[in-house]
Amino acid sequence: MGIGLSLVCGLCHALNLSNAYLSKRNAERAVRAKTQYIILHTTEAEATSSLRKLSRNGEAHYCVDRNGKVYRIVDRRKVAYHCGTSMWSGRKNIDEVSIGIEVVGYHDRALTAAQYTALKELVLLLQKLYSVKDANVMPHAQVAYGTPNRWHRRSHRGRKRCGMGYATPAVRKLLGLKERWLSDPDVKARRLTVGDAFLSQILYAKNADKLLPYKLPAMGAKSSAPAVVVKSSVPLKQAIATASAALPVKKQQRTVVIRKGQTAWDVAREAYNAASTIYVFPDGKRIHGDQLTDWESLVAGTKVILGDEADAPIQTLAAGIHPKALVGDAVMAADTWYIRPTGGRIQGSRLTEKSLKALPPGTKILTGYAMCGPVTSRKLPSTLCPSRWDAPDTYYLFPGKPLQSAAQIDMKRVPAGTYIFYKN
Ligand SMILES: [Zn+2]
Repeated sequence: MGIGLSLVCGLCHALNLSNAYLSKRNAERAVRAKTQYIILHTTEAEATSSLRKLSRNGEAHYCVDRNGKVYRIVDRRKVAYHCGTSMWSGRKNIDEVSIGIEVVGYHDRALTAAQYTALKELVLLLQKLYSVKDANVMPHAQVAYGTPNRWHRRSHRGRKRCGMGYATPAVRKLLGLKERWLSDPDVKARRLTVGDAFLSQILYAKNADKLLPYKLPAMGAKSSAPAVVVKSSVPLKQAIATASAALPVKKQQRTVVIRKGQTAWDVAREAYNAASTIYVFPDGKRIHGDQLTDWESLVAGTKVILGDEADAPIQTLAAGIHPKALVGDAVMAADTWYIRPTGGRIQGSRLTEKSLKALPPGTKILTGYAMCGPVTSRKLPSTLCPSRWDAPDTYYLFPGKPLQSAAQIDMKRVPAGTYIFYKN
């Protein structure tokens, strides 16, 4: 059988499916043990750069283009990395139990009629295949959460607004979804705080439709997607070899300007201190996110160039700064890890007030992470950490070396004694 929906293609009469962007990451991904959720995203970029990035990193199972054409990215049975730091009803790492659908578009703009139509078909099909109930078809913004940082002492909902509109009654109606969640179970149980009040309104308020910053397209207009059934007749391996294997790597960037009263968090979210985020001050001075320390100096008019690093959960300790200022209440948590510049690792729960203060500048801090290892000749990263060993937010600590992201290293050359840190 192919990787796609051929099993039930009797249903997918209106779906126009393509294998042109199948990810070469498919071969290495673990098979999902169960599927409880369907998570809907907006790519926040145009089609070509979105599809290339999704395919390169294996970041979704499907991507719906403006004309309603659906691209398969990752085999729907396998794990795709689309949720990042995520939690729902106390369950973390939603990638392990969900299918991710990216839709070319933006969280604060309407999708096309063709996209809503195709998405409705695709979601219905997947709901039938995996018995996912309507309420569990959710936007990414609903399940993403942020670990403590400079602006939030506690873990919080509101790390992203990705796909927020999908939670509103009006959009759910277009998608044929009846039930929706009426409150956030993780906020209710005090696992999370509300980090974005506006998002919370969009997700749960009765009048959420009125708060949406856009108008929905008139449906019933003839979709521009040709209603062709493309069966999954191309074998996976062959399709990957001929399709996306040699796609050029193009950086995806977006520029926003800081307005009066806004902080770096407001515009860049978790990427505020990423090396790939560049701040261009009104006087022309440019500083990368990982080099900036004086966050209060960000004046209105500062341009922020956001790279394509989805999440940048690492904090770097600067001289004279207490770790608490960076990671709030997570400072001594068991899922907080401190990596010294020379390579040593310390778990937050093992630190004392005194040893916290003694951490040297340049120490990297990971929050919401679990550790596995050490790597040996028999225990490879893919064995030790099957669901996230090559995720973009997974980090490797080679013996005696500084921390490196999974994207930076050659997976064939991971030395024995390496520890792996993954979002948990
Ligand atoms: Zn998303």
